[in-house]
Amino acid sequence: MAAASAIMLVAGPPQVQGASTAVGTPSHGRLVGGVLFPAFSEYWYTWNSPGFYSPNPAWRRYGTDRLVAMLKRVLTAYSLDHPEAARPGVEDISRQYGGWFGAIYGGLGHTSHQNGLDVDITYPRLDLCECAPITPSDVDIVLAQDLLDRFVAEGVQYVFTGPSLNLHGPSSVVIPLPYHDDHMHVRIYPPPPKRKPGGHPSPKPTAPSSGDGRPPTGGLKPPA
Ligand SMILES: [Zn+2]
Repeated sequence: MAAASAIMLVAGPPQVQGASTAVGTPSHGRLVGGVLFPAFSEYWYTWNSPGFYSPNPAWRRYGTDRLVAMLKRVLTAYSLDHPEAARPGVEDISRQYGGWFGAIYGGLGHTSHQNGLDVDITYPRLDLCECAPITPSDVDIVLAQDLLDRFVAEGVQYVFTGPSLNLHGPSSVVIPLPYHDDHMHVRIYPPPPKRKPGGHPSPKPTAPSSGDGRPPTGGLKPPA
C-alpha cells in the first residue's frame, strides 16, 4: 500500500486549514472553509448536550480555523496543568457550513453558533465525570474558573456563564446568562476586516442583543 494511502486510512481526509471565513454575524451568518474539531484527544472530549452522550457528532463540530486552534491551545494547556482533573468537554460549535442551529437540531437549540465563532464548553465536574453537570452543585467552581480565565486571557469577545455559579472576570467579557449553568459559551472576535488601499476602516463588530439566544428563563437546560 502506498504511504499516502496508509496515512489517509489513519488520519482521514485532509481538513481545510487557514482559509475559514465567518460570514455575517453569530446569529445570522454562515461558515466558509470550516475546520472540523476532533472528536476527542488526550486533552478533551466532545459532548452532545441534547442527547447527553459523547462524542458529539462531527456535523456539530465545525469552527473557523482560528477558533479550532484557540480551543486546542487552551484545552491542551489546561489538561497538562491539571493531570488530576477530567478532560474538559467541547459541545456544539457550528454546523459544517454554519447557518441556523435551532431547536430542530435537538434540545433548545441556538440562535447563535452560526458562523464558526461560538463554542459551548462543559464545566468540569467535582466527581470527574466526563459529562455535563446536572445541577450547579456538580460543578468544580475552582477548575471552571481556571478554564474561564484561560479563555479570557486569549482575548475572547464573550464568555457567557451560569447565573448560579458566581464565576467572575471582566464585566465586559464574562456575562451571566440564563441557561448557562451546565456549560460556558465562548465567542471569539471575527478577524479584523481587510482594508482596501485608500479605503475607510470598517466599523467594529457590534455586541449581540443576547448571548446564546436561548430562552431568558431558568438555569439548566431541561432534559431533551
Ligand atoms: Zn452556546
